[in-house]
Amino acid sequence: MERSDYRGRFAPSPTGPLHFGSLVAALGSYLDAKHHNGTWLVRIEDLDTPRTVKGAADDILRTLEACGLHWDETVIYQSRRTTAYQAAFEQLRTDNLLYPCACSRKEITDSALHGIDGQIYPGTCRKGVPAGREGRAWRVRADDQAISFDDALQGRITQHLESEIGDFVVKRADGLFAYQLAVVVDDAAQGITHVVRGADLLTSTARQIYLQRLLGFATPAYTHLPIAVNAQGEKLGKQTLAAPVGTHSPVATLLRALAFLRQELPAELLGHAPESVLIWAIAHWNKDRLKGIMNIPV
Ligand code: GLU
Repeated sequence: MERSDYRGRFAPSPTGPLHFGSLVAALGSYLDAKHHNGTWLVRIEDLDTPRTVKGAADDILRTLEACGLHWDETVIYQSRRTTAYQAAFEQLRTDNLLYPCACSRKEITDSALHGIDGQIYPGTCRKGVPAGREGRAWRVRADDQAISFDDALQGRITQHLESEIGDFVVKRADGLFAYQLAVVVDDAAQGITHVVRGADLLTSTARQIYLQRLLGFATPAYTHLPIAVNAQGEKLGKQTLAAPVGTHSPVATLLRALAFLRQELPAELLGHAPESVLIWAIAHWNKDRLKGIMNIPV
């Protein structure tokens, strides 16, 4: 069957082995792409080198393959794409949209209001770095026009960046490009039309749309899946010591992830190879069952 124009992706950060929460994002993005007869890519977001764990990227890729989640094009690694991020950074700087910032984390915490995603940057260095201080991070000037998008599951989302987030970092004090910039450059470079990921990134989306507009990129369609949380409501991740998915029982893992995504599998598929389970799941994928759900305790 001929492929459609749909291009989706799974973009894990290799900070440890794949855990259940990330497998759900992988599977949800895979099923949505394949149900639409699209292309599914994997991108390793190993840009934040201090947090990257040696061997974790290979481990994640092996686990995806064991689960039958085969990607369609070469895997790209953010650690090798600095030139592309630098070019976007230069474009923004030339357009006078960036400024250096000397504020320490403590200064921001002491002076800023707490917003929907951490402290709202109060704009201290907008008019210049204070005398005697050195700007090390770079921020993009945000404006306060409403940015709205229709998330396929979470509905209409509107944010005013300047008052709700503040000017945000595109290049960190340690010299690394920030996730918000890299993700926008890569989604555009890979021609991503549909982003399907965890709802923990819902509050980042307006910042990404803002950067897409500044850089002249198209905005993909967004679907934010519920995230797996523990009994305390915390996201399952390395911090909460979520157990790695592993490669030993891929069918059981897939069934658990499908149940989480509210896709009811017929019992006769038990015991089949992961690929057969996926063929069924692709054909029957119905994400409407997840409408309005931000998190699910597991
Ligand atoms: N690398 C990010 C994470 O693992 C996901 C980025 C994205 O899907 O946009 O949380």
